[in-house]
Amino acid sequence: MENTEIILVNISGEDRPGVTAALTGVLAKYDANILDIGQANIHHTLSLAILFESTTAKSGDILKNLLFIASELGVTIRFSPLSKEEYSNWVNRQGKNRYIVTILGRELKARQIAYVAEVLREFKMNIESITRLTARVPIDMKSRPNRSCIEMQIRGSVDVDAVHRRFMELSSKHSIDIAFQEESMYRRMRRVICFDMDSTLIQTEVIDELADRAGVGEEVRAITESAMRGEIDFSESFERRVSLLKGLDESVMKDIAENLPITEGMARLIRILKKSGYKIAILSGGFTYFGNYLKDKYGFDYVYANELEIVDGKLTGKHLGDIVDGKRKAELLKLIAQVEKADIRQTVAVGDGANDLPMLAAAGLGIAFHAKPKVKENAKQSLSTVGLDGILYFLGYKDSMLENENQ
Ligand SMILES: [Mg+2]
Repeated sequence: MENTEIILVNISGEDRPGVTAALTGVLAKYDANILDIGQANIHHTLSLAILFESTTAKSGDILKNLLFIASELGVTIRFSPLSKEEYSNWVNRQGKNRYIVTILGRELKARQIAYVAEVLREFKMNIESITRLTARVPIDMKSRPNRSCIEMQIRGSVDVDAVHRRFMELSSKHSIDIAFQEESMYRRMRRVICFDMDSTLIQTEVIDELADRAGVGEEVRAITESAMRGEIDFSESFERRVSLLKGLDESVMKDIAENLPITEGMARLIRILKKSGYKIAILSGGFTYFGNYLKDKYGFDYVYANELEIVDGKLTGKHLGDIVDGKRKAELLKLIAQVEKADIRQTVAVGDGANDLPMLAAAGLGIAFHAKPKVKENAKQSLSTVGLDGILYFLGYKDSMLENENQ
């Protein structure tokens, strides 16, 4: 058998048409075998790497020809022979310890990117590439978009929970949102997304609005806040609050539903997710009446919430069936994934309250949305700087892909 050599070629310089054609043409002439090839062209600067295998007899001529062409093209070329062992080590690292960091904010300053890069350095993680997900920033200040997002592909062997904790601290301190996700096929193929309703899809707690109309607003609001901070048991607080609504007229529900304050970016997010084939659920500790109203209006696929008992057109102060609490939300997420034949790693959960934490932990990607501090502390990633459609960046969508989404 002929002796073979493995050689890495790195080319960099100003990009111009035909660089790749000329260099691969030389390798083709000598029938070299390409083991790997990668190229990026960022702001007119080309970086091209080719890892090839050839017989020892031919490799001298190949290098001579490559050098000649590189000097003609005015690009820098570097050769590094690789031993069989070095090559095997490189092959064995394939696909391991790869992560995606998404950084999002109303605007991203150099300082915020530097904080994230510093954390990656602390954990000895290497940035492989960086991509901007939001549209190009126009020079005119007035027409600048009010959001900015970049995605980093990184590699390193780390304690994932420790990285999540560190990024959550950073995001609270510096008004940026950071998602840290394992790079896998699941991250690119999410299929089921479950939303909390009150203070997530809508900017209110419906039970508080019902209570206002029943004249027990203050009393109920105090119990709601305490429950959402995780200070008292959700089911107990739910029953206490519902009992205070006794005697309220059914027509009030319709009026509240028709005037629900929808969260920024919600309609756009749901429209794009539906187009992308997602199954979308509302899992709510609130009430089915309002969930069903949103379902009909925006096209949600599933609604699980609590049913208020109504007799003779008035609320009785009781509810029907089991209460949808935190534990139940996580069970429903798993159940919907099963029904939709999706892997649990293909699920996303979004919520703001303490009763959302179990489903956020169960999902492949759990996002605390404009959440209370206690919820943020216990979540893996959060979204607080922009509206609900910011979730699209965490899912890997780019603005440039969605430019014509209305057509
Ligand atoms: Mg909520």
